[in-house]
Amino acid sequence: MIRCLLAFVAFAALGGAAAGQAPLPFVLKQVGPGVYAAIDGPEHKAGSNAGFVVGDDGVLVVDALFTEDAARALVGEIRRITPKPIRYLVNTHYHADHTGGDAVLREAGAVIIAHKNVRGWVRTNNVDLFGERITPELKARIEALPLPDVTTDKDLTVWLGSRKVVVETVLGHTGGDLIVSVPDAKVLFTGDMLWRKVPPNLIDGSVREWLATDAAFERVAGTTFVPGHGDVADARDVADFRSYLTDLRRLVGEGRKAGRNGDALTEFVAPKMRALHPDWTISDRAIAFEVKYMAAELAGTKKRLVPVPD
Ligand SMILES: [Zn+2]
Repeated sequence: MIRCLLAFVAFAALGGAAAGQAPLPFVLKQVGPGVYAAIDGPEHKAGSNAGFVVGDDGVLVVDALFTEDAARALVGEIRRITPKPIRYLVNTHYHADHTGGDAVLREAGAVIIAHKNVRGWVRTNNVDLFGERITPELKARIEALPLPDVTTDKDLTVWLGSRKVVVETVLGHTGGDLIVSVPDAKVLFTGDMLWRKVPPNLIDGSVREWLATDAAFERVAGTTFVPGHGDVADARDVADFRSYLTDLRRLVGEGRKAGRNGDALTEFVAPKMRALHPDWTISDRAIAFEVKYMAAELAGTKKRLVPVPD
């Protein structure tokens, strides 16, 4: 009986949740003084990673996860750590696995900051992202997502009292990407500009731009990176991710030169990518899409999103 009780208390403490509540859909990790990463769990209930920065007079949140339940759990963790107001939410890009919980953060008081292209894309292009897997419920939810309050195509500095947070526009993942750094903690929230040991979604991307952006990521030695997917990362993980993209581009190029396309191209590339990156989790579905999008980029037929006028 006592052992049962102790086990239950340990479970509740680990989950960071009060008795009777579901365990968190992410693991909360402190990555600097007052800087936290919410890392999606193995069941992918959060859909992506997020994080937050506690300053003198408020909190800035980076990304809102996929579901409103996950976003509510994130707000709960912020409330457990600080009573300071949640003042800002930065969306790193429009994809629903990062913006799905936006309404919860806005309800909690956040002004939503995003790249200027996100306003035109968040309620429409997310439907395409899910393709035939979309349900009527998900479609309705996407079409009701909040539009960002502050949009920019320039870098911004957000001051949380004396704490400086830098929001930068970068190229590569969607055509409307922001990254967020906390210089005093040497932390960089990369959104989907960095994935750790899981294949990136190239649907809207340009691998050429992406590699150039990530080459400049380690401006300060010892930086901690919070990727969009996968665990907290360091400079070796950035190099590993860049070599993944470089290998993909090279192998897809070799396969095309040998006259392969479609499934035959995927069958040529997939085993070589798995051999080169044995510690990555590379599903058949993910590699098939990556090969398709990489081949389109090399052929000059890759579809990129077009900015919508305000
Ligand atoms: Zn994304």
